[in-house]
Amino acid sequence: MNSLRTYDIKYLKGVGPRRAELLKKELGIATGYDLVRHYPTHYLDRSKVYTVRELNDEMPYVQIRGRFVTFNTIGEGAKMRLVGLFTDGTATLEVVWFRRIKAIRDSLNAGTEYVIFGKPSSYMGTKQMSHPEIDLPGSAAAMQPVRGVYPLTERLRGANITSRQIAAWVSALLGSRHAIVDPLPRSVIADNRLMPLDKALAEIHNPTDAENLRQARLRLKFDELIYIQVDMLRRSQRRKSVSIGHRLARVGEMFNRFYRECLPFDLTGAQKRVIKEIRADVNTGRQMNRLVQGDVGSGKTLVALMSMLLAVDNGLQACLMAPTEILATQHYETISSMLADIGVSVALLTGSTGKRERERIRAGLTDGSLQLLIGTHALIEDTVQFKQLGFVVIDEQHRFGVAQRAKLWAKNQIPPHILVMTATPIPRTLAMTVYGDLDVSVIDELPPGRKPVETLLRYDEQRTQVYRAVYGQLKLGRQIYIVYPLIEENEKLDLRSLQEGYDLIRDTFKGYNVAFVHGRMKPAEKDFQMNLFASHKADILVATTVIEVGVNVPNASVMIIENAERFGLSQLHQLRGRVGRGADQSYCILMSKHQIAQTTRRRLELMTQTSDGFLIAEADMQMRGPGDIEGTMQSGIPFDLHIANLATDGQIIQLARRAAEKIIDADPDLSRPENLLFARELAAASTGTRDWSRIS
Ligand code: ADP
Ligand code: MG
Repeated sequence: MNSLRTYDIKYLKGVGPRRAELLKKELGIATGYDLVRHYPTHYLDRSKVYTVRELNDEMPYVQIRGRFVTFNTIGEGAKMRLVGLFTDGTATLEVVWFRRIKAIRDSLNAGTEYVIFGKPSSYMGTKQMSHPEIDLPGSAAAMQPVRGVYPLTERLRGANITSRQIAAWVSALLGSRHAIVDPLPRSVIADNRLMPLDKALAEIHNPTDAENLRQARLRLKFDELIYIQVDMLRRSQRRKSVSIGHRLARVGEMFNRFYRECLPFDLTGAQKRVIKEIRADVNTGRQMNRLVQGDVGSGKTLVALMSMLLAVDNGLQACLMAPTEILATQHYETISSMLADIGVSVALLTGSTGKRERERIRAGLTDGSLQLLIGTHALIEDTVQFKQLGFVVIDEQHRFGVAQRAKLWAKNQIPPHILVMTATPIPRTLAMTVYGDLDVSVIDELPPGRKPVETLLRYDEQRTQVYRAVYGQLKLGRQIYIVYPLIEENEKLDLRSLQEGYDLIRDTFKGYNVAFVHGRMKPAEKDFQMNLFASHKADILVATTVIEVGVNVPNASVMIIENAERFGLSQLHQLRGRVGRGADQSYCILMSKHQIAQTTRRRLELMTQTSDGFLIAEADMQMRGPGDIEGTMQSGIPFDLHIANLATDGQIIQLARRAAEKIIDADPDLSRPENLLFARELAAASTGTRDWSRIS
């Protein structure tokens, strides 16, 4: 494939500089290699010819055969369109064109038989099809039974670059003298019974049958995934061999006294196990990079705190970084009150910390008298310098960019141990890939005595009844969250519905105080509103998803989620985790329109049936694709994925993982002759912009 990598597609027949420019801009395709890796998203079946009479708008792309009776140009200017009346004797169909009207009209004749291929629709009872593909019967295109459909953009279509055109260019490339050399070591191909690369590429673009297509997809996915796995293994090896870390050998006074005297409850089995894993890890002399996953409310804070005490016991400092001021403040309050009796010094540093307090913190950090620092992004400012930072905890990891973490890391000669905590459960196979070079601990047990949140699905017309129930809870002195979706594309509209929601709530619940918070507010205003709720000066909080991350108001007993159909399952689960933190029964009410798709209803119903975060995350991925989770995760992977899907290709990930281990075990530097091509492809494929080996 090497010659394809350097082959500029502007030289390909029919492309030229202008279209090449457009392909680059719109799809990032610059070389022959990029083009053959631009796979069809789906395939059209032209093996069957339909009659016009049987067409309906539920059908996918279909093929019909007949003649045009008349052509008419309708409308003017931008609204001008060409309508051709088409019939096959069973019924008539309007074929409509909005673009390239003159060229199309000139190329077609009334009375000639054509095979036309497109998506049927209907407009006020008339059957229609717009911009179909049109061929003469018996032409090559009309005879090809299965054809790939390529992702395109409006601008490409405007330049008359069609799916068929892309297919033609790809065939030209695959049939050309640019040899496709298979970079995978032969043993890997044999062990996993993979289709050879040249065949896989031919099949993916031009499948000969369903089984070949399946094999081709498997092969191409495998390639992408094995690069990731080999890359991860090498990074983690490198990290383990070179990176030194503080050895926290002593489990001393602070840890033990805290455990004996300060713990208000017993640790859960899962908490104990994870603390043990961390203790073993920080005692090796190498830097720890560990991810702790635990469902909302599983008690991650305590695990973090006890880990930080290990650092303190070994004469080092520790810090905990949270994504919002309100969360940092909450952590500070919980932690400083828990530590009150054992004399560990703790401080809080956020954007709103006053100048004098800042000075005091800075002095304490430099002379080492300040042992624990809790805060927000303010922690990574250049002016914050520790004497000996030994342990860093990052709460709700997905809110921090990699670069930001790297900054924290850069502060010390010997890197601190890093513990990243997240409440977004990631299925195991995905974790294995995304955090392939991190160690993962899972807190898979909730503290005892929690009452599961009762989750109900309610429709808009049941609102009165829902509000009546809310009233009941308010009268009992409980607090209520009401959350609205805010989706950026439609921010104006969303803000308006949020504002209307707020007004409605204030009208409905006169006599109760309502706080109001959304993402467009200034941080100070946001914190002020959140604090009204946290301190129970407000009874109801109307909010967008800004509250998603970690706030703890145990007195809140109801979470109402408006337009629940617009949220992902995992997000709903996070939101629901805001209630059920006290001893009383709590409720989560998913409000939705009555008219929703079957799959959406099923998603919402699943929420009412389970509170298992991992199960929900799996289901979320199965049902709507990896969505947000993958989006965030993928940003950590230094490879582009064209065909593999981290969420749904778990089995192939495992195959690739095993193959990668075998390669690396036998040849850690990939220097053996049979691995040379593979090593070169790996280097060429790496986008290399993101480095997770220094995840912090
Ligand atoms: P999360 O994992 O969502 O960050 P937190 O650390 O905030 O959860 O803990 C949630 C609540 O559970 C807190 O009020 C905490 O004090 C309590 N908690 C944590 N561990 C235990 C335990 N072992 N037994 C009882 N309650 C616990
Ligand atoms: Mg938390």
